[in-house]
Amino acid sequence: MRIDVLTLFPEMFASPLGHGIIRRAQEQGLVEIVLTNIRDFAIGEYRKVDDKPYGGGPGMVMMPGPVFDCFEHVQSLCPQPGRVILLTPQGAPFKQAKATELSAQDRLILIAGRYEGFDERIRIGLGAEQISIGDYVLNGGELAAMVVIDAVVRLLPGALGDEDSAKDDSFSNGLLEYPHYTRPETYRGMKVPDILLSGDHGKIAQWRRDQSLERTRQHRPDLLDDRASLR
Ligand code: SAM
Repeated sequence: MRIDVLTLFPEMFASPLGHGIIRRAQEQGLVEIVLTNIRDFAIGEYRKVDDKPYGGGPGMVMMPGPVFDCFEHVQSLCPQPGRVILLTPQGAPFKQAKATELSAQDRLILIAGRYEGFDERIRIGLGAEQISIGDYVLNGGELAAMVVIDAVVRLLPGALGDEDSAKDDSFSNGLLEYPHYTRPETYRGMKVPDILLSGDHGKIAQWRRDQSLERTRQHRPDLLDDRASLR
């Protein structure tokens, strides 16, 4: 998979992409992540990428010119078609099902906004889909792009040491995952549930299913409604 990120702050990505599973996935050649600075495509002495909104109002808006030119440059480097995604709080909420869908693509092109957001013609002209990582407003789309990259890359075949660990993760079957315990058996008076020490894999699997359902019921009953509506 190739992931292009168009951003005004490529340097923000260095550390998050340089560790753990994401770093290993790049080293293994499972994903190539290419960062391109939108400001490199701004013209004029001040390399302006934003301007005042038509109609007045606060803040500045990202101009279409530098974003289109940046996009066309990136396409000229790699003509392979891809999913074009604008990170915006106005997009569809990013969920595990979307991460799974995107992990099956050969190419993603993520565009991170700043200021008051994008001139609307960027969305229209690039035929971009919009993704939000939650109902809150960030200062820029970089963190949102990193969230999408992180969630997608761990689903690429071979990215995780143990392929099964993504299968049991929260949301992958519509529920929250069951609780985990590791050594020691007793810590500050809190004991690991006996069933996990029993060696009975059938009973452990049943306990985990029950726990998964119970904590979903307690913490995220909306997920059970979503599941029911899919049936
Ligand atoms: N004025 C915009 C609005 O109210 O819809 C918010 C602009 S925000 C300050 C600047 C940029 O941060 C956006 O263009 C977007 O790229 C990014 N951003 C902010 N919140 C986001 C979220 N919840 N999900 C994805 N991107 C977000």
